[in-house]
Amino acid sequence: MVKLTRRKFLGSAIAGLLISISPTSFASGSNGTFVAIRIWPSSTYTRMTIEASSALKFKHFQLKDPERLVIDIQGAVLNQVIKDIQGKVLANDPFIKTARVAQFDPTTIRVVLDLKTAVNPQLFTLNPIAEYKYRLVTDLYPTNTNVNAESDPLLALLEDYNKGKISTDGTDSSQPTKTDPTPIPSGKNKSLIVMLDPGHGGEDPGAIGPNKIREKDVVLQIARQTKALLEKNKGVKVYMTRNEDVFIPLSVRVAKARKQKADIFISIHADAFTSPTPRGSSVFMLNTKGASSTAAKHLAQTQNNADLIGGVIKTGNSNVDKTIMDLTLTATTKYSQMLGSNILSELKKINQLHKNQVEGANFAVLRAPDIPSILVETAFISNPTEEGLLKSAAFQKKVAAAINTGVKNYMAKAPVAKK
Ligand SMILES: [Zn+2]
Repeated sequence: MVKLTRRKFLGSAIAGLLISISPTSFASGSNGTFVAIRIWPSSTYTRMTIEASSALKFKHFQLKDPERLVIDIQGAVLNQVIKDIQGKVLANDPFIKTARVAQFDPTTIRVVLDLKTAVNPQLFTLNPIAEYKYRLVTDLYPTNTNVNAESDPLLALLEDYNKGKISTDGTDSSQPTKTDPTPIPSGKNKSLIVMLDPGHGGEDPGAIGPNKIREKDVVLQIARQTKALLEKNKGVKVYMTRNEDVFIPLSVRVAKARKQKADIFISIHADAFTSPTPRGSSVFMLNTKGASSTAAKHLAQTQNNADLIGGVIKTGNSNVDKTIMDLTLTATTKYSQMLGSNILSELKKINQLHKNQVEGANFAVLRAPDIPSILVETAFISNPTEEGLLKSAAFQKKVAAAINTGVKNYMAKAPVAKK
């Protein structure tokens, strides 16, 4: 969750307000200041975020031979932050070769991205949220999705998402909802498909501990170790919603699980609070009717903000078949509870528990109607002791082992599907 970072942000936002943004500066038409540029290359897409103290206006166009993307920005003045854009480009970026910037005319700053390949760009702006001010986001997708679909078969889901084909609960029109969410196939070839979901990533760091350990990094490390352990079990196949430092919208995470026909979905996070005192592990499942505690409700709200912080182009449509959803949700809830309890009792052996039972809250990432889904808050990253644990390989291994044993026990107990 992100309560900690938001609180920190509040101070800087107020300071920023006093210094650089005042209603009069807008009225007189004077410009804002570029405050940051971040570039997040990944195998799926590269995101460039240009952040400024006031809203930016932009136009863009593409040039060929060689491939270039030109972005004309209005609303801010040339400063060192934007001049340093080339320093943000990594050599292994799959799309951007170099980046340059210049004052194009008295009111326009021109950014030129020299590209390694033709791209399909998506540009949009975001209003201030959490620690971020006004952002202009440039996402570069490959034009030839077939090539990338081979290296990442889930890439197309991101594109579907941007086209509005994926709804807020991760369902897409081409994927039928399973009417029987019974998780364990029967017979000798008892198998289980697990989707592990390391929380946050890319532009969305998640919570940040007092010693600057980031949630997005530790949960990815834990998820990788969990995958390695789970795959040692016969018949268990494991996928991850992300295996690099990339921002993936919440509903795309759910859609990835449905695309791979996952039997269970496990989201991995680190908890945080405004005071350093709270600690312990906890496990959540979906409760659309209401949270089991006010803390759980708050946690779900802040987690669901991940899309606003990471930045999504739009929320997608909502064409889910409500009748099927009602039919499957009862069974899904039962199995989510069973899975959550099995993992919680293993976590109890390696860390103190924050709550002794599986809690319910309305997490967007747990909304697949037909896949038993849980969210594990491994420990409190805002607690200095637990922040130390979270970054240690030994504790990460223990959490991975606890999830692995919990899944194995769940597999043994869950009734098999009738063929
Ligand atoms: Zn989180």
